[in-house]
Amino acid sequence: MVRAMRYGRIALDDGTETWARFEGELAQPLAGAPWTGAPDVSVKVPISACRLLAPVSPRKILCVGRNYAAHARELGNEVPKEPMLFLKPPSALLDPGGELFLPRQSERVEHEAELGVVVGSRCKDATPETAMRHVFGYTCACDVTARDLQKKDVQFTRAKGFDGFCPVGPWIETELDPRDLRVTCRVQGAVRQDGRTSAMVFPVPELVAYMSQMMTLEPGDLLLTGTPEGVGPLVAGDALEVAIEGIGALLVHVRAAKT
Ligand code: ZN
Repeated sequence: MVRAMRYGRIALDDGTETWARFEGELAQPLAGAPWTGAPDVSVKVPISACRLLAPVSPRKILCVGRNYAAHARELGNEVPKEPMLFLKPPSALLDPGGELFLPRQSERVEHEAELGVVVGSRCKDATPETAMRHVFGYTCACDVTARDLQKKDVQFTRAKGFDGFCPVGPWIETELDPRDLRVTCRVQGAVRQDGRTSAMVFPVPELVAYMSQMMTLEPGDLLLTGTPEGVGPLVAGDALEVAIEGIGALLVHVRAAKT
């Protein structure tokens, strides 16, 4: 049994934002990002007294489409021969417990529950054998997608890039084997997606290696690994939950478009 090791970002009462290591009910603030080996600073605080922030600080969010065969088929797509990459902007990040505002430009916004991989060290031209040494840990993520705009546009930038379209959290779990984890998505408590990472067309080591051969992966970058079948629409008022075995659950509140 490997001991859980959790890291995240917290906002304290005075508005200070900091990285922290989570120990049971307590958060130990750190002097910097955990993958830098930053030392402990100040005193532990109860996690319940903090607001959790998205536990990443990516210069890029690199994603893969159609990485579960059953999901590719449900949208009428072929299973790709090699990973189909796209980017989400860091401005799409949303904190755990945050509000996802539906954009007025779309009439069909959907959830895609995904395992998030957090890069811990610079990675370029890795192989599946060397890629995993650059992975810091894993978190829950939702690749929120405006499905109507995805079909309408030639590429995915608009459909995947609205503010709030990348909820992440609640923390990073570092002691985890990503090969066979249950990934579930619940909307208003009802199970919409229930898959296992073992069904990935390109498993995490192959994916990280492939991505690193396109572009240098930097510490703090976030990689999304594709979604199992069962994607569906979100409407205002929905409580959206992405849960991954061995990590925890990420909750987001869906709100009507801002007028
Ligand atoms: Zn996705």
